[in-house]
Amino acid sequence: MPVKSRFDERTIRIMLARIKEQVPPHHFEFHDPFWVLITTVLSHRTKDEITDSSARSLYNAYGTVEGLASASTKDIELHIKRVGFYRVKAERVKEISKIILEKYSGKVPDNIDDLTKLPGVGRKTANVVLSDALRIPAIAVDTHVQRISRRIGWSRHDDPERTEESLRKIIPKDMWIGFNPMIVEFGKKICRPRNPLCSECSVSEYCDYFQKAQSKKMKTSKLTAGITKNKYIT
Ligand code: SF4
Repeated sequence: MPVKSRFDERTIRIMLARIKEQVPPHHFEFHDPFWVLITTVLSHRTKDEITDSSARSLYNAYGTVEGLASASTKDIELHIKRVGFYRVKAERVKEISKIILEKYSGKVPDNIDDLTKLPGVGRKTANVVLSDALRIPAIAVDTHVQRISRRIGWSRHDDPERTEESLRKIIPKDMWIGFNPMIVEFGKKICRPRNPLCSECSVSEYCDYFQKAQSKKMKTSKLTAGITKNKYIT
């Protein structure tokens, strides 16, 4: 039998409203679906600033699906050589452009099945394109969403696909668009990979990680108090 989440809709809405208040708006380098797709493909294992400037360099040089589809892989490499795995990504970017041009008449597909058939496009990238660019409700689970969902207790899974499933059950659908960019900012500013700023966090009262850390602290201080007391008795 599926385990019922302790997060009801009201609680989730309160949490997301608090998180929204605590973080700056997310910067989107592009809004056009094709360039959101290309940027997201480049982003794997690469810092945001490098991803954005590399994608911008490609855009300035080629501008359209047609332009990028007809560019040589070597030329694409020159624009993106600061991103991780740039040689593989240059090939993918070109292949994706050609497929979108030839199979989809230059329009980015608007469904997860077709998107995930594109080379190098997994569920995360597809969901980013759907929600951020095409404004179709979807939840993209990247490293920030995965980490924070586990810490808070929204998901018990380490696998992003299962985390996505858990989130789809508890996050109200009208909040799916914008969920990923907001949690990304939360992950950069507050719930950082190392040393999360729990004392500044607006949702700590709901967070498993925080509650566990607190009870561990209490146990330790009780133990220390007990040892000190015994020292005086003996
Ligand atoms: S309390 Fe700490 S671990 Fe929990 S969400 Fe906030 S920053 Fe992250």
